[in-house]
Amino acid sequence: MSTKERALHPVKRIHGGAHLPHYKNSAECETEILPPPPKVYIPLSQHIGAPANPIVNKGDKVYVGTVIGEEAGYISAPIHSSVSGTVNGVIDKVLNGSSPVKCIEIESDGEMTPDPDLKPFRIRKAADLAEAAKRCGLVGLGGAGFPAHVKLSPSKDSAIDTLIINAAECEPYITSDYRECIENVDGIIAATYLLRDKLKLQKVIICVENNKPKAIEKLMEVAANKQDVEDTVKLMKLPSTYPQGAEKVIIYSATGRKVPLGKLPSDVGCIVMNVTSLATLYRFISTGMPLVSKRITVDGTAVTEPKNLLVPIGTPIGYVLEHMGVDTDNVERIIMGGPMMGQPVSSPEAVIEKRSNAILAMGQSTANIHQTACIRCGRCQRTCPMHLTPARVETAYRKGDTEAYKELNINYCIECGSCSYICPAKRPLTEVMRIAKGELRRQKK
Ligand code: SF4
Ligand code: SF4
Repeated sequence: MSTKERALHPVKRIHGGAHLPHYKNSAECETEILPPPPKVYIPLSQHIGAPANPIVNKGDKVYVGTVIGEEAGYISAPIHSSVSGTVNGVIDKVLNGSSPVKCIEIESDGEMTPDPDLKPFRIRKAADLAEAAKRCGLVGLGGAGFPAHVKLSPSKDSAIDTLIINAAECEPYITSDYRECIENVDGIIAATYLLRDKLKLQKVIICVENNKPKAIEKLMEVAANKQDVEDTVKLMKLPSTYPQGAEKVIIYSATGRKVPLGKLPSDVGCIVMNVTSLATLYRFISTGMPLVSKRITVDGTAVTEPKNLLVPIGTPIGYVLEHMGVDTDNVERIIMGGPMMGQPVSSPEAVIEKRSNAILAMGQSTANIHQTACIRCGRCQRTCPMHLTPARVETAYRKGDTEAYKELNINYCIECGSCSYICPAKRPLTEVMRIAKGELRRQKK
């Protein structure tokens, strides 16, 4: 076996991490296309930064891929119609939680006709990649939702030498990135070498957990590709301890570099792209079709036949669950995303967004979640990948000692949920971290 065909081991091992059950029940489920819903509700804000400005009016005809909202500033992203049909208007609608959000309601004609003006986007120089990402409406699809064109336009001071392709997908249940690797390796190969060449990168490291042998086999086709004459593209097998896919964690594992608090990956010479983001960018470059649909894993204890579905953005979750034949009477809770970092869904009217990668419908739980006092076992501290002391933060929180938050470095918390998962006393440690971080943000303002 040549060096090209061998996977690298992590440069550094992260501290702690949790051993979670994988429940990758849908790993072998080829992506199915969801029939278009009667209506979609496309939120103007599906990313970090300013919401998009709507540019359509009631009665306008749109196609799949038509721009319906333009970016409103540098840190913002445009939005596109995910169905063909007629705009019903820009409305305020309660989708999830209690506050209404601005969204564009479109009635589908059921045809899913692509916009006839879509055409491939030519990449001549590095800056064209950022422009393509912007026009694609691409945001970080691994969960953060940071506009990708910003990532691809680092400041002149940051010397980027490494692209990390994140295919770790470390949360239980979710297999949407995994299916991207299995079903679209040619797109991943084309995107990888395009970025490497245009951004003049010295190294590309494709990171995947070692519990995904079929994805490893596919991604080895990227690393061992004949275009890699200079041996710059490497595959790295990460241990399957959660949260390997978190941005700071993956940079540390792949390069040994630490991203300081308040800094970006570009400050340590790295760009991190989720594998589906990369493939989506290439799809736009080669066809002109922007980000209009997402592959969603639908699973959970209330789902009898898990699937991976390609879902138009703006589709109500209730429509997806109905298509899946899920008996909502048996559903105790719905989570958008994985069980560790996903968001609870309060209504079936919540919609699939750019960042969505899973819907978990969970039935009645038999687990004992009885909360008791902290027994000072230290497991939360040993598990935390950011070397934090969650039990001490909880004590400070209960005492109202906000001064202690800074000393305890709570802003380093990536809200991965490992401490809450591991705690035998079922203390709400991650929730406390979130509240405490919010408190510090308020104080700073
Ligand atoms: S949620 Fe925060 S404190 Fe808890 S383990 Fe993750 S990084 Fe550490
Ligand atoms: S894991 Fe739970 S019980 Fe153990 S020290 Fe941390 S908070 Fe206390």
